[in-house]
Amino acid sequence: GQCTQWCPTGAISERDDSDKVLKAIADPNITVVVQTAPATRIGLGEEFGMPVGTNVQGKQAAALRKLGFDSIFDTIFTADLTIMEEGTELVKRVKGELKKPIPQLTSCCPGWVKFVEYFYPDLIPNLSSAKSPQQMEGALIKTYFAEKKKADPKKIFSVSIMPCTAKKFECKRPEMVSASKNIKDSNVSPDVDVVLTTRELARMIKRAGIDFVSLPDDPYDQLMGSGSGAGVIFGTTGGVMEAAVRSAYYLITGQQPPSALWDLTPVRGMQGVKEAKVNIPGVGDVKVAVISGLANARTVMDQVRAGHAPWAFIEVMACPGGCQYGGGQPRSSAPPSDEVRNKRAESLYNIDANAKLRNSHDNPEIKQIYADFLTTPMSEKAEELLHTKYTSRAAELVAKKSGSQLS
Ligand code: SF4
Repeated sequence: GQCTQWCPTGAISERDDSDKVLKAIADPNITVVVQTAPATRIGLGEEFGMPVGTNVQGKQAAALRKLGFDSIFDTIFTADLTIMEEGTELVKRVKGELKKPIPQLTSCCPGWVKFVEYFYPDLIPNLSSAKSPQQMEGALIKTYFAEKKKADPKKIFSVSIMPCTAKKFECKRPEMVSASKNIKDSNVSPDVDVVLTTRELARMIKRAGIDFVSLPDDPYDQLMGSGSGAGVIFGTTGGVMEAAVRSAYYLITGQQPPSALWDLTPVRGMQGVKEAKVNIPGVGDVKVAVISGLANARTVMDQVRAGHAPWAFIEVMACPGGCQYGGGQPRSSAPPSDEVRNKRAESLYNIDANAKLRNSHDNPEIKQIYADFLTTPMSEKAEELLHTKYTSRAAELVAKKSGSQLS
């Protein structure tokens, strides 16, 4: 995949990562908490011979329990939280309440964020300060979850199952230690200790001799284990935008978005650049764009840089098709094919269409975390735990020009 250029991760370090997780699970003094990304549920089954795009959410949770994880959370919970934070930031930018430019650019894809830091550092102020769902969940596991469970954050080991190899470097970024800063204890490890890809999880399941296909469906644990349909479609290109539009409508008007906004079809499909226009009462027409693949991002960012961008908000994913075809997903076709991408995306859209709650702001666990812990989006605590800063890497790029690949 395209993102492998950004995240050279060899099989040896993959094996090391699985071993670290098994060691933590074997230690009775450590609470091992795991989160699973939106896209792993529609990829993992393919490693066990199931049809492309099969939703194995329940079997995945059952397998994680059998492997010995203590608490199993869903990253779609923090996808919803990302929408609350990033949506609030967008509304503030559009209203001129934040001294930050539009278009706002999404920040949940670490391959894309690094690309901006290298090639478009002048557009760093456009990047949303919201962390990715993985990093939000990690920070909350060692603060909110620890507080609720009266657990020592130093004895929590936080693991992510991701469709993505770039998530391995994201969790190692030096600023991703919000839990230790928040509780002022530098002995707390990074917010996410280890990232395993979907393929690595499949190998662990196989090595443990678990008969995946026959597993019953297990639920996620409560507190940070449920998400809306909007959170699920984060796993495919355009999904973050659909989720954001639904909640931006609510945040601006105080009304639920009309059902016509639940299927924003212009941002669906595998084209590299997509556009849509949404009418929000009181604001008027808002133009948005969705990009997947970094070559397409370059074309659009050149327009933004030149001041010719008509959009208020732009979603960018480094991998063509988004996370459902990320570098850590099963390779069910070679070379990569849009047929597989479309089937996986369809499966995510079906989960959303059948979800009881389709809007991030309606998720009861989201309401609970604001009531009990964070107060409001972009509160001081939310800023501390859920937002971040970016660094220009332009100088690094110049230094590396004579070398080989970027890492
Ligand atoms: Fe990772 Fe998704 Fe970005 Fe690909 S699009 S690099 S899978 S976050």
